[in-house]
Amino acid sequence: MQKSSLPERAPELIEKLRALPAEPGVYLFKDARGKVIYVGKAKALADRVRTYFGAGAELAPKTQALMARVQDFDYMVTPTEVEALVLECNLIKEYRPRYNIRLRDDKKFPYVRITADPFPRVFPTRTLVHDGSEYFGPYSDVGAMRRTLSLLQRVLPTRPCTPESLDGIDRPCLYYDIKMCGAPCVGLQSRGEYLEVVDGVRLFLRGRTDELVSRLRQRMQEHSERLEFERAARVRDQIQAIERVTDRLRSVVGEGVDRDAVAMRRDGPNACGVVLKIRGARLLASETFYFSDRDESDTEVFSAFFEQYYNSTTSLPEEILASEEPEDPELLERWLSENRGGRVRLVRPQKGDKHTLVALALKNATLKLDEWLIAHGAADKRVPDEVVQLGQVLGMRALPRHVECFDISNFQGAQPVASLVHFEAGQPSKGLYRHFRIRNITAPNDFAMMEHVVERHFRAVQQEGRPLPELVMVDGGKGQLGAAERALERLGLAGSTTLIGLAKRNEEIYRSGHPEPLVLPRTSPALKLVQRVRNEAHRFAIGYHRRLRGAELVHSALDDIPGVGRKTRLALLRHFGSVQGVSRATAAQLAAVPGVGRVTAERILAVLSHPALRPGQAGPEGAELDPPAGEFEGEIELAEEVDVDAGVPTATGSGAEGSRPASTDTSSET
Ligand code: SF4
Repeated sequence: MQKSSLPERAPELIEKLRALPAEPGVYLFKDARGKVIYVGKAKALADRVRTYFGAGAELAPKTQALMARVQDFDYMVTPTEVEALVLECNLIKEYRPRYNIRLRDDKKFPYVRITADPFPRVFPTRTLVHDGSEYFGPYSDVGAMRRTLSLLQRVLPTRPCTPESLDGIDRPCLYYDIKMCGAPCVGLQSRGEYLEVVDGVRLFLRGRTDELVSRLRQRMQEHSERLEFERAARVRDQIQAIERVTDRLRSVVGEGVDRDAVAMRRDGPNACGVVLKIRGARLLASETFYFSDRDESDTEVFSAFFEQYYNSTTSLPEEILASEEPEDPELLERWLSENRGGRVRLVRPQKGDKHTLVALALKNATLKLDEWLIAHGAADKRVPDEVVQLGQVLGMRALPRHVECFDISNFQGAQPVASLVHFEAGQPSKGLYRHFRIRNITAPNDFAMMEHVVERHFRAVQQEGRPLPELVMVDGGKGQLGAAERALERLGLAGSTTLIGLAKRNEEIYRSGHPEPLVLPRTSPALKLVQRVRNEAHRFAIGYHRRLRGAELVHSALDDIPGVGRKTRLALLRHFGSVQGVSRATAAQLAAVPGVGRVTAERILAVLSHPALRPGQAGPEGAELDPPAGEFEGEIELAEEVDVDAGVPTATGSGAEGSRPASTDTSSET
């Protein structure tokens, strides 16, 4: 986090900040060209806006970028917080500010409009005219909306002609002949009858099909009693057509409460929100929306989606079931209840039928997001099933596309080092691997080392403004997990990412905030993925540790040889893989290594051939270079360590640099 600086701001802006009222309202940040780049709402404008400019304000990377461009701001006071919320949504829609989270294509979502004419018309539109017309939507699936309107035109025909007034029309048009209009223009259908049809359309669009069918049955009965058999038969056909459609709607819950189930699935910067509309115990529609934001938290992204959707929709249910808790749920409940004219409950169910509905919405969001990623050329970024499963078993809101894992390696407390490996979409991203040398903790204390390294890494991530991985792993159980938690807390990152520890003994997964470990079946793809990540971190840490020790031993054996400096020492190690390899080489082979001439090669051989210095034969160095079984908890070839770490061809000349990316060694001594 960086601090913003008020003193650097223009004096007029400082004056404006001082004059801000402590009332609810909306603020608009503008760039140098006066363009609105961010809109926010506040319970108390003065407090909220000053937090952005206040000296010493801790700002997230995205907010830092925003504030670097802000040159001016405006604000509007509103009577209540609810009105501030509505105004914020409308201004975001109007200005589409760069730094607000926005639904993709939000300008394009169509609605169904029922005009306020004496003989109302029903048609799709993307433009909302506030002249008393009613709107239904938004519909994310244009095709489904058009099919619904086409069905309605056959079953409950309203006039397709466009004049607002039917005065002056003296004969019906073709639509009457093909039975797609009752010709109210010439009185063949009374205004009352016509408005009854429009009412039916309203009920259908609201999902109140049971009520619609019941009304039509009554109408059919009346026609029969009046011996109007042809009209009764027409109404019967309408009922059958509506029932056919209604039967296709899936019955999801036994009660007749109108509900929405709202869920969001996120994969890196992309997110998909799904709203399942349950009306009269049936699943009426599923609306899907896409949006993107890399830096905001899941709660912020979900809240933005929730607010923007419910600011656009005209159909509010009694209950909204949500997969996440949006920011300020009480304010949202107040706002929604005012709009509906009756109580709207916002619930985050944990079990039962309601939870099943949210899980269904979440599943749809996952599938839709996958489809979207493929359709938008992001197939290569699509995460494999094991990653999706891991996100599910850990109850994560965002898919663990990016996973980072820490491991500590030391030999009886000596020369401790740590590794960090980075996996993206289940595959190692070796360019993002990191090494850490730990010099300020001398006693063998895994927890303190873990805390130190986690803090060190994520402090650098914050300073560089890089995004956090969705999942952070530590090798170890409760103790290591607690250490990592403390480090993230100190950085103000607690809750910003999911944190787990994988304990080796029983492969139990310890989760931050859960007292009991999670034990997955041995065959679980999710478990196999975390094991693979942990093993890679382990391998990388051990490799670094061994190399350091190897380098140290080479140094001890070679540092007195004139012409053999640090660079030459490392070049030899990389080329021959070990001190033993160096000692087995011929003078010509040694001389072929860059930086080693014939004279130096002979000197090296002379030194290494001395019984007291020969590796593996005498002295502590030899013993150290061939560690006994069990000293390290994994097997590794030194050649591979050199390859992975330094990104140079191995001693075998396999050209591994080209076959996989070289990592960046950021090791430093502390
Ligand atoms: S029949 Fe009359 S009301 Fe119906 S579409 Fe034609 S002109 Fe319009």
